[in-house]
Amino acid sequence: MPDEKKTDNASPAPDIVTFGCRLNTYESEIMRAHAREAGLEDVIIFNTCAVTAEAERQARQAIRKARREHPDKKIIVTGCAAQVKPELFAEMPEIDRIIGNDLKLKPESWHPAQKDRLLIEDIMDVKETAAHLVEGFEGKSRAFVQVQNGCDHRCTFCIIPYGRGPSRSVPIGEIAKQVQSLVVSGYKEIVLTGVDVTSYGHDLPGRPSLGQMIRRVLNLTPDLPRLRLSSLDPVEIDEDLWALIADEPRLMPHLHLSMQAGDDMILKRMKRRHLRADLYAVCERARALRPDIVFGADIIAGFPTETEDMFENTCRAVTECNLTWLHVFPYSAREGTPAAKMPQLKRGIVKDRAARLREIGAAQAEKFMRAEHGKIRQIIMEHDGAGRTEHFAQVRPDHVLPAGELARVRIEKCTGENLRAKIVSR
Ligand code: SF4
Repeated sequence: MPDEKKTDNASPAPDIVTFGCRLNTYESEIMRAHAREAGLEDVIIFNTCAVTAEAERQARQAIRKARREHPDKKIIVTGCAAQVKPELFAEMPEIDRIIGNDLKLKPESWHPAQKDRLLIEDIMDVKETAAHLVEGFEGKSRAFVQVQNGCDHRCTFCIIPYGRGPSRSVPIGEIAKQVQSLVVSGYKEIVLTGVDVTSYGHDLPGRPSLGQMIRRVLNLTPDLPRLRLSSLDPVEIDEDLWALIADEPRLMPHLHLSMQAGDDMILKRMKRRHLRADLYAVCERARALRPDIVFGADIIAGFPTETEDMFENTCRAVTECNLTWLHVFPYSAREGTPAAKMPQLKRGIVKDRAARLREIGAAQAEKFMRAEHGKIRQIIMEHDGAGRTEHFAQVRPDHVLPAGELARVRIEKCTGENLRAKIVSR
């Protein structure tokens, strides 16, 4: 899902502007290494996102601005928006090259001898996810590791499968190697990422489950203090993963659920695999296994045909399941998806519902943070002088430690936005 634009230009390597998800952030590091090896300098790479029309608009706007500010630099565009709509970027004279989502990960696509302006493959033909060893993440204290790519589902609102292709998993050995090399580089928290991580292993010999993979990787990397999961399909959590939730302290007590809505009719029209009752059952089971667990959730506000009552069902699910960290997305029609052909709600209603959900989300987060008062938590320091607890709460400790460091803190105050704490040990 799109969030803030990130730009890194620490060394004479290319500037990389990354939009969207953690998977894009991971892949930007792979492209940085390929471009460096190819000796590419004076290049700006845009790794785009296609999840909303807004994400596409932001990328085009940023490209035009970059061209104005850097008339002499080469501009290369890749990512999901370039894969789904190459023509949208091919028509822009500001751009020197457009590379597809799988070809962006291949060193030859960055070779100076490569002269083609359009390097786009049929992403549906991609069957494997080649493993890459990323050395680190510039400006990040937590590292992302790709375990899976693509998606075989067809949720009616979603364009991602057309940008990322079929679901494919990275073999366990490769994941363990990547995690180990990041631990050796000093990373103390790893976030496993993908597009549909709960479909992990379906395409591998022996069909290892997501839970089996995680247990194996943790056994092979005993020095890794913290492992966090990215978005999970609520009804596709496997029994091995449930066991880990119950007994693995290094697995952070924070599950981010791809919830999308809390009304059965809307979930059916979205072609999701879960219903409202499943969501409640997942939260109840997780809390029974790990009482301090917290939940985040992706929710779409204003999906076509959503009535006020259906919306209220979603709002109630948030409070009744006691979800804490909400990512709210105003519905955005994506050309080529079935939902774009359904009767659309007025934009004002979509925006209003998104605002109301965000308010509920803010109240839920504050409720959680107020209850943290006096508790002892472990934080990992980030680059902005704040840290993240095991439950993903943002904490400002009484003195700043180097990014990436772990420390035990006692929570002393909630400011509504974040927590203040006293460092008790390191
Ligand atoms: S599971 Fe659904 S929402 Fe998620 S990437 Fe696949 S199609 Fe999109």
